[in-house]
Parts: sequence; structure tokens; C-alpha cells
Amino acid sequence: MEILEKYNKLVYYCSHCRLCSIANYHELKEWVPICPSGSYYGFESYYAVGRIELIRGLIEGDVSPDAEDLLQIVYACQVCGGCYVQCKDHTAFGSVQNQVDTFEDLRTALVDSGVGPMPAHLEIKEDTLKYHNPYKVPNDQRFDWLEGRKVSDKKEIIYFAGCTASFREKEIAQATVDILNKLGIEFSVLGSDEWCCGSPMLRSGLRKDTMELIEHNYNAIVKSGAKKVITSCAGCYKTLTQDYPRLLGKDKLEFEVIHSSQLFKKELKKRGIKLNQQDITITYHDPCHLARHASVRKDPRRVIGMIPGVKLIEFQRNNKNAWCCGAGGGVKKAFPDFALWTSQERVKEADNIPNLDAIVSTCPFCKRNLKDGVESLGRKYQVLDLTELLLKSL
Ligand code: SF4
Ligand code: SF4
Repeated sequence: MEILEKYNKLVYYCSHCRLCSIANYHELKEWVPICPSGSYYGFESYYAVGRIELIRGLIEGDVSPDAEDLLQIVYACQVCGGCYVQCKDHTAFGSVQNQVDTFEDLRTALVDSGVGPMPAHLEIKEDTLKYHNPYKVPNDQRFDWLEGRKVSDKKEIIYFAGCTASFREKEIAQATVDILNKLGIEFSVLGSDEWCCGSPMLRSGLRKDTMELIEHNYNAIVKSGAKKVITSCAGCYKTLTQDYPRLLGKDKLEFEVIHSSQLFKKELKKRGIKLNQQDITITYHDPCHLARHASVRKDPRRVIGMIPGVKLIEFQRNNKNAWCCGAGGGVKKAFPDFALWTSQERVKEADNIPNLDAIVSTCPFCKRNLKDGVESLGRKYQVLDLTELLLKSL
């Protein structure tokens, strides 16, 4: 458990105040849950405070790595960072440590010592290393959705579509490419040389195994000569911008990585493009990987604000206080009921928005899980990606 050694003093910074279980009262004027895991399972060990205590126990020998339910407690968490933003603003622990990193280190320590991950995560690992995507589709079919769309021979700008948009929510990848073409931005793709970015395996603690994917993608991008990589996936964005430099031991990558919402905000503004009217009431769901982990919150809202007729009404829990969609951190695969419940909680929050037509997000995995929530509750809301909304106005 070498990775956990650095926490031997840090764990004592946690004052057990439990502020990490509720969204910022001062901003929301109400006590509202922020931790899906603790809210669903209802025991202290499932909140951040409990997992930090678990780390203390593992370091000091009070908890055995093969303790009953240990893996369940460690992995039934979306690593969403809801706890972190509350803790950061109010406590000493938050000023010195980020729970997202802490809990990923905990998972990595359990994997490295042969205890973790869960069988579902081993399945993700086997499939991803074999197919280069977790969906078990031959990777040479990754860009089938392009369907004759225009792609440049020039490689300065690469669109890194990611696995979920390539194999499941293809309309997001198609909308992204259609917008790029309408704006006249020349771009290329890596084809079957684009492999899974590694996010699902990293979040499950499979850090050593993920290096194969990270090194492959990094080398493929550098070899292509790309100076800019566009992604429309919040998970790919976080992984490429934060995990790649850290795990490759680099201060900076040789190329810029930009999320499609950032790129489109910049390009629409620069070109002074007038967008077509859409009469629709929407709310915006902040993906954890984008809004909390990478602080990208304004740009998607600015793009929405440029579309005439679109009325944006925020969720009660929004921006850094957003409730997670439920899918991340390996939860959708290992705990499908918990993932669905988390999504349903978000959809029920949307019920409070008058005349709502659509929930809009900026992540294919969020879209996937929110759609499951909407359908299971029999709601009629559309679930759209920002790229789909924008394309309709171009
Ligand atoms: S808010 Fe931070 S210090 Fe307070 S219990 Fe949660 S993790 Fe510990
Ligand atoms: S990362 Fe999210 S689910 Fe996990 S303990 Fe923190 S708030 Fe709860």
C-alpha cells in the first residue's frame, strides 16, 4: 500500500465535519445532498469521510485489505468530486487534498496489492486492452459514423471522438464534425489509431495497465504532427489534459487539448456568427469531469446563450455544486442500479423546472446515463448534447 503512505498525516486533517455530504448551503440556501454514494447506501462509510477513515485504517493496520465489503465501499463511488468542492471551500483537509485523487489512489493501491478491482472492472480492462475500446467492437469500425463526411488530409487539428461517441452516442460525434465542417475548420482523425483514452481503467485503479493506452495515444498524436486535439467528451478531456501529462511525467504536452464547447464558444464569437432561433426551454447538466475536475463551466453556458430563443433554466444544483449523472468512476458497469438511481435523482430535480423540453450536457457518457434515467421514469424530456443543440441553429 505504498501509494497510501503519503496520506499518513493527511488523513488527520479530516475533521469529520461531514460538510462533504451536502451541497454548499450558502449558495443554495437549502441543505441538499451532493454525494450520490452516501445518499444511496445510507452509511457513513460510503461518504468521503468514511473512505478517508478507511484509508487511515489501512495505513495503520486497523482495517485489513481483505475486509468484508471493502471493495464494495471503495468502488461504489462515482469519484465525482462533489465532496471535494464542499470540503475545499470549508475545511483544512480540502485545502491540502483532493478527494478525487485520494480515492483513485486508494483504488490503485488495492489493485497493486492484488485486492482490487471488482470483476466488472477486470472485464473493462480485458475488453479495452483487446479491442482498444470497452464496447468490444473491432477498433477499425471506430470512425464508421463519419459516413462520407469531410475530413482533411492536414493533421494540424485532430478530432479525438472517444469511445462512447464513436460506438454508442454517435450523433454527438456526427454533430461535432458537422459543426466543424460548417465553420470551415479543417480537421483530421486518428482512425483506428485512436484507442480508448484510458479513463474507465484509470478511475478503477488500473493505472499500470492503462499506461499502454496512454502511451499509444500520446505517440499517435505526436506522430501525426497535430498541434490541437478537440474532444467532445468530458472524460477524454480530463484524462488527456490532466492524467496524460502527470502519468507521462511531462509538465506540458506537445499539443493543446480543447473541449468542443470551448472551441465553439471561441469560434462563434470570433466569427460573429448569427445563430438561428430555437424556441426551447432547457437546463444544463454539468459533467463532473468538465465542471468540477477541469473548471469548464462558463463556455458551455456561453454557447447556449448565443442561440436565440433558447431559455436556460439552471438545475438547483448547478456548476460546481451539480449532482453527478451517476455513470462515472466505473459505477455504471459495476453497480447499474446505483447508477440508474443517481440519474433518476437528477431527472427528478429537472421536474422542478417549468415547461422543460430538454436536458443538455457536454459528455456522451452523461447523455447515456441521463437518457436511462428519463426513460425509466417515463419522462418526456429530450436529452441532448450541446453539439446537437448548436448544430440545429447553424
Ligand atoms: S468535508 Fe472534508 S474535512 Fe469534513 S468530513 Fe468531509 S472530507 Fe472530512
Ligand atoms: S466522489 Fe462523489 S460519490 Fe464519491 S464520496 Fe465524493 S461526493 Fe460521494
